[in-house]
Amino acid sequence: MTCKEAIAKLAEYLDGELTSVVQKQLEAHLKTCPPCRAYLATYRKTKELAAKVNRVDMPEDLKARLRALLIDRIRARPAGG
Ligand SMILES: [Zn+2]
Repeated sequence: MTCKEAIAKLAEYLDGELTSVVQKQLEAHLKTCPPCRAYLATYRKTKELAAKVNRVDMPEDLKARLRALLIDRIRARPAGG
């Protein structure tokens, strides 16, 4: 799994919507990829906060911002991932 694929699946992962196969692939990626782990932690925290405040899903623009942030980090690294 690439970082791009992992990021695309994180929301479903947190909602428990992934199949067990995909979930295992994602978890395997997270083990080897600190930026994606950091993204997941930030995403989860933000989602929890948003849920506490008004019980709605994370705004799309915020998701996009987080995604852009991570993609910047990935681009800053040497090839791989
Ligand atoms: Zn990654």
